[in-house]
Amino acid sequence: MAEETIFSKIIRKEIPADIVYQDDLVTAFRDINPQAPAHILVIPNKLIPTMDDVETGDEAVLGRMMTVASKIAREEGIADDGYRLMINCKQHGGQEVYHIHLHVLGGRPLGPMLSRG
Ligand code: 5GP
Repeated sequence: MAEETIFSKIIRKEIPADIVYQDDLVTAFRDINPQAPAHILVIPNKLIPTMDDVETGDEAVLGRMMTVASKIAREEGIADDGYRLMINCKQHGGQEVYHIHLHVLGGRPLGPMLSRG
């Protein structure tokens, strides 16, 4: 049984977060330490620790994360100039919180995907 993270408490509104969207499958809220003018996390309401844990039965929620990210990007005013969607997985991916989350980043040119060199 996977261990809950702080994100489960945000979903249940037990701790404060700037929630911009919530439905039966996903919750979206502003990142506490934004890396761009717009930085929102879209997460499944059910706990899926990493992308290595997703199953075919999760396709509906994973799809909803994408459509909600697109809707939020438009609402945030970053869709016309473009933005980046990112999911980190485990240690080499730089994942810190083990409840999958789709980063929606935009509002400035974000540069190359990975630092080179
Ligand atoms: P990761 O490195 O796991 O892909 O990203 C975790 C993200 O969650 C980080 O960008 C971090 O700032 C954000 N984060 C961690 N704890 C909290 C929190 O309690 N509230 C909010 N809103 N964001 C958090």
